[in-house]
Amino acid sequence: MKYYKITAIISILILIIAGFCFYIYQKPSNGLLILEYHKVNDIDNDEYTIPVKDFTAQLDYLSAEGYTTISLMDFIHAKKYGEKLPAKPIILTFDDGYEDNFTNVAPIVNKHNMKATFFIIGNYINKKDYINWAQLKQLQNDNIEIGCHTANHLPLTTLSAAQIQNEVKLSKLLMEWNGLKTIFFFSYPNGMYNNTAIQALQQNNYLAAVTGDPGLNTFSTNPYLLQRTYIPRERFSLLGLKLRILKSKLFYYFHINQH
Ligand SMILES: [Zn+2]
Repeated sequence: MKYYKITAIISILILIIAGFCFYIYQKPSNGLLILEYHKVNDIDNDEYTIPVKDFTAQLDYLSAEGYTTISLMDFIHAKKYGEKLPAKPIILTFDDGYEDNFTNVAPIVNKHNMKATFFIIGNYINKKDYINWAQLKQLQNDNIEIGCHTANHLPLTTLSAAQIQNEVKLSKLLMEWNGLKTIFFFSYPNGMYNNTAIQALQQNNYLAAVTGDPGLNTFSTNPYLLQRTYIPRERFSLLGLKLRILKSKLFYYFHINQH
């Protein structure tokens, strides 16, 4: 076959794939997107840190695209009572409980009239660079949803059943005994889970948990294995965000590892 024919065929294939991806990206779906962030500041330079300007631009973009932030409680409530979610529902989650979640994330989220969920590591509260008790209480009063990210951030799949119970139970009790409102939601350290962990969550009255598995969520998704889209620091942060959302939509569309 002549060279130009091969080039033409490859070009057409690329166009078809790009067109399909664009179609999937734009296609309205009832699926709930859950984004996974960690830190937002202009000091750290690691993959878990989004610069303040980039984070603001990402929220501007999500607003302009018509996304409505909800809380995990909104989702579980709507599921239980068969209510409709907003047209493009999204949950913004932040893992590990860094202090910048209080100083940077909450003000930017509030300014956008959005909601957010922070997953806190119980034994890291009050440590340097981590959120403290007074900040946590203020956040709950300011309508930030607080969830649990274990007591010590150990991957649950490496622990015994008794150790998993401790990590899941003690961190929840610690936060509730220190005056926070009841904790209903959980995030698996390093996104690692197994059946023992899910059972421990159910036994300790958690209503839902988020993984690190990309995809979208519906009312039929296992609430203890909610799909979540990881948003790391990227050179072109808005393009990165769009590609990550596209990946989740493709995984959902093709039923790849959807719970
Ligand atoms: Zn974590």
